[in-house]
Amino acid sequence: MSSNNANIIDGKAFSNHLIETLIPDIKTISNIIGRPPTLAVILVGEDSASQVYVRNKIRQTEAAGMISIEHRLSADTDEKTLLAQVKALNDDDKIDGILVQLPLPKHINEHSVIQAINPEKDVDGFHVVNAGKLATGLAGLVPCTPLGCVLLLRETLGDLSGFNAVIIGRSNIVGKPLGQLLLAENASVTIVHSRTKNIEDLTSQADILIAAIGRPEMVKSSWIKKGACVIDVGINRIPAPEKGVGKFRLVGDVDFAQACLVADSITPVPGGVGPMTISCLLRNTVLAAAQRKGVEIGFK
Ligand code: NDP
Repeated sequence: MSSNNANIIDGKAFSNHLIETLIPDIKTISNIIGRPPTLAVILVGEDSASQVYVRNKIRQTEAAGMISIEHRLSADTDEKTLLAQVKALNDDDKIDGILVQLPLPKHINEHSVIQAINPEKDVDGFHVVNAGKLATGLAGLVPCTPLGCVLLLRETLGDLSGFNAVIIGRSNIVGKPLGQLLLAENASVTIVHSRTKNIEDLTSQADILIAAIGRPEMVKSSWIKKGACVIDVGINRIPAPEKGVGKFRLVGDVDFAQACLVADSITPVPGGVGPMTISCLLRNTVLAAAQRKGVEIGFK
């Protein structure tokens, strides 16, 4: 990937570094509780992107010295069966973290399933107890993708205090928690969305611009302030006929080539926020295990 000016933020390298820093804590917990921190992943159905994500999560969890247990359920699994599986994992003392891979099949109410997870084991940080803790400044489990964005921003910019941050997207899993995290970092936060008027006027004032939209390459250079730091959360599959018939490639929500001309630094897709989401899941699993078992570790 080439850039004209912008510094390309290497999410893969930083993610690997983050996982390295977890290893001593994983060893400490394993020694004290007699087993490694353990993550249970539930995958319902055959969604191909979800299968790839789950495979990566499990591989990296195990590579870091933790245990990962996968529960695969067929696409026609009913909500009652899934809730019973979640309850069994809540009740199992050897499970520290529970992740239900989203999206779930349409006939299952995602909200009911997420709220059924014990908040202490909610390593995705989507439970209302953890969302409430984040909103009120209490320690809890924080959603992985927003946490990954903030860690990348701190690594790139240092202290985020006083920066003008604009987030495009207000979902419960990315935009809103990211807004809370950036407020906690003393940034000034604006969240824009599909109903925002004159969106470009707002984004082009951002020192930090974060795109979490799900629209391939929507953010053009005119949306970006010269010298901004751009974090592209989007993962979009678009046709790539140059690679062959029926082939796809991944792009973000930001037009990368254009953005490189104006931004000071930018995350690529793939290789930016995506790897950070996984390392933050590992971090949350370590944290959940430590908090459940009362083990002191190097971070909170
Ligand atoms: P959602 O669909 O839940 O939310 C998208 C947000 O973008 C909404 O707030 C929506 O506004 C806003 N939006 C949509 N169209 C426009 C538009 N034309 N102008 C302005 N705002 C718009 O998506 P997610 O938050 O779940 O995910 C966003 C992207 O991030 C996706 O590409 C997803 O694949 C990716 N992602 C990547 C992860 C990673 O690990 N890197 C993890 C999670 C997500 P409104 O609310 O008004 O509808």
